[in-house]
Amino acid sequence: MSALLEVRGLNVVFSGFHAITDLDFTLQAGELRFLIGPNGAGKTTLIDVITGLTKPASGSVRFAGEDLAGKREYKIVRAGVGRTFQTSVVFDELSVLDNLDLAAGFRRRMTGLLRRRHGISDDVASALDTIGLGDLADRPAGVLSHGQRQWLEIGMLVVQRPRLLLLDEPVAGMSRDERDRTGELMQSVAKDHTVLVVEHDMAFLRRFASTVTVLHEGRLLCEGTVAEVQADPRVQEVYLGR
Ligand code: ADP
Repeated sequence: MSALLEVRGLNVVFSGFHAITDLDFTLQAGELRFLIGPNGAGKTTLIDVITGLTKPASGSVRFAGEDLAGKREYKIVRAGVGRTFQTSVVFDELSVLDNLDLAAGFRRRMTGLLRRRHGISDDVASALDTIGLGDLADRPAGVLSHGQRQWLEIGMLVVQRPRLLLLDEPVAGMSRDERDRTGELMQSVAKDHTVLVVEHDMAFLRRFASTVTVLHEGRLLCEGTVAEVQADPRVQEVYLGR
């Protein structure tokens, strides 16, 4: 495996407040990595820097060999970084299929890979299959449950074929069953993509995470398997003990 993302010496300062301090963070191509830490640890800020929403005070963000630090958001998307947002990007009045198709739009027209029988592109058909919403393909997205909606958003990212997917608390507010299905979906998506997930539900992590990175007050606290991280006294003190 080689590093797909390499963050070095990252510092993010908001009006004198150090949200991230001297952070080094590496993601290997093909990893499914979980990012945890108490509120205010800097998780969302790190994702915002990777996606170009927040400009760092210093440090480098190398993605597939290219320095992304300070680049405009659309250039970062074009380089292959995709994220879900906490606010929904799904159009309620459009069908599940049309939402996927819209997200795939430009790429689909460029490749022209249309499925003759169903009239939908291979990308969209495959994403529909991956997110398990085939039976609801023609239903308006407005009827989806909270969990199904999140899966659709993940599907809308996947059809854009990013190399790195950033998912910010995708299982928040989900039922247990929906969480399990989301974990399986993440593992399935991670077969073809590198995935970074912000999540702090430990039961979920024990089940689906291999490597976990823990942030605390803008610094890297530790990194390792779920068992290693849980056994680390520093993590117990700042995070699990609360
Ligand atoms: P997390 O996602 O781990 O909960 P955040 O990355 O959202 O943490 O925030 C890290 C710290 O930076 C917090 O103390 C937060 O209040 C602060 N912060 C985040 N964004 C801003 C901003 N735009 N302006 C000022 N402070 C911010």
